[in-house]
Amino acid sequence: MAWTEEELREAMASLVTPDQVLAGSAVRRAYDCDAYSIDRSSPSIVVMPTNTAEVAVIIRWCNNHGVPFTPRGAGTGLSGGAMPALGGVVVSTKRLNQILEIDPPNRRMRAQAGTPNLKLSQAVAAGGFHFAPDPSSQAVSTLGGNIAENSGGPHTLKYGVTTQHILSVTLVDETGTIHEIGSDVPGGPGYDTLSLIIGSEGTLGLVTEAWVRLTPNPEEIRTLLASFRTTRDATETVAHVLADGIVPAALEMLDRQILVAVDAAFGFPFPSETEAMLLIECDGAPEIADAEIKRVAEICRTHGALKISIAEDLTQRAELWKARKKGIGAMGRLAPTIVTHDGVIPPSRLPEMLDEVYRIATELGLGVANMFHAGDGNLHPIFYFDERQPGKVEAVVEAGDRVIEKCLELGGSVSGEHGIGVEKIDLLAKMFDPDSMALQVALRNAFSSSSLCNPCKVIPHGKGCVEHMRRWRGAAS
Ligand SMILES: Cc1cc2nc3c(=O)[nH]c(=O)nc-3n(C[C@H](O)[C@H](O)[C@H](O)COP(=O)(O)OP(=O)(O)OC[C@H]3O[C@@H](n4cnc5c(N)ncnc54)[C@H](O)[C@@H]3O)c2cc1C
Repeated sequence: MAWTEEELREAMASLVTPDQVLAGSAVRRAYDCDAYSIDRSSPSIVVMPTNTAEVAVIIRWCNNHGVPFTPRGAGTGLSGGAMPALGGVVVSTKRLNQILEIDPPNRRMRAQAGTPNLKLSQAVAAGGFHFAPDPSSQAVSTLGGNIAENSGGPHTLKYGVTTQHILSVTLVDETGTIHEIGSDVPGGPGYDTLSLIIGSEGTLGLVTEAWVRLTPNPEEIRTLLASFRTTRDATETVAHVLADGIVPAALEMLDRQILVAVDAAFGFPFPSETEAMLLIECDGAPEIADAEIKRVAEICRTHGALKISIAEDLTQRAELWKARKKGIGAMGRLAPTIVTHDGVIPPSRLPEMLDEVYRIATELGLGVANMFHAGDGNLHPIFYFDERQPGKVEAVVEAGDRVIEKCLELGGSVSGEHGIGVEKIDLLAKMFDPDSMALQVALRNAFSSSSLCNPCKVIPHGKGCVEHMRRWRGAAS
């Protein structure tokens, strides 16, 4: 049976309280996409539970009544994962935002899934700890979203991605059953279902809580910003730094278009002949951080750096990070719409990969800026355009496909950290052979046999997904 919005609102309000249910045209519009705004589909209703028991009741009701549901954190995802593809109920973790336990002697903390990433680190900063995964969206993106996407960030080059920092989760599966997955101490026996949940993009259930690892803050941090005359000089320097045996805490690259946008929006003067910058951080004991950053500076100089700045204090460090932190926000200066793509290649292939990115943008009549985790080989071409111009949306989709095909050709992956969502649903099968894909489908079906949990994401297994694809892109009503 098809449920009307009013019927769903009444049903949800009877399970929780009326003020936890959002409905109406403004709500449908606000929740029809995440930060990947190319594809859109509205929910009927949004519900905001406050604890695991409420999540279980909501999901059990959806399962019993055949209503699709989509977990949603802050909606900063970049592949359409939180878009309610077949409508139904969006289960928002906005009110699941409590830190539940801090346990410094065991270097761990328990928090609800809707807690913003940065709030985790702020809660333990006085004790000298932080939560290491640091996506650039960390001020708003949630622990649950980070787990679902296995998020990375500038410092994951040295500290690892989210999966290295989660000990256990509480998961409500598609039937509304509550599971405790993982172990609060390292080395739990049995199948490693925790690894399966991390990175599953909300398709295997909704995570309500997690125990996370706490990482001690480094004693000292040294930050360097180097400008280069060509992007090739910069990308080749990345490979030389890595080959030298140093593991920087962060090794980020920004190209000229990003610098131009940041300068226009916030003021960030840079040498006029600069085509790219590397932002490199080394940390640890003072003598190690000093020695490593000195060596990094030498390598940059040898490979053509025009100017090198090293921060002397926290204020200068913030200034060197300014363009990296404000880059996405500044992109609005260049065009009304941006789409950030995500792919991975071995870092030594960056020079030819970036050449290809610029070629693709020129051929398809799109602007492109690059700001990415160069040390991980995790590129993020940011295509900018005006979506009101005919053919631009199709061009940006084609650009994404061509970038990913090149990543695969160079021995890389279809996604580094933004996930598959709906954006790359056709691309996953290009990375895996049919038997490996079949195993992934079987795993998903083991958790989600009725296809109600975040349908049409990662693997197009739900009824109606294929025919709905045109509708998401606004091509059909
Ligand atoms: C400016 C900007 C910078 C970014 N920088 C980075 C970066 O450096 N590194 C990086 O990895 N990503 C980055 N991202 C992408 C995005 O922020 C991350 O993927 C983030 O983890 C998403 O968190 P969220 O709370 O916004 O999740 P949402 O966008 O709400 O959801 C993302 C996916 O997770 C699922 N989900 C959400 N919560 C739960 C839950 N509790 N249980 C189960 N499934 C759930 C959703 O169904 C969806 O599939 C960036 C995005 C932006 C806009």
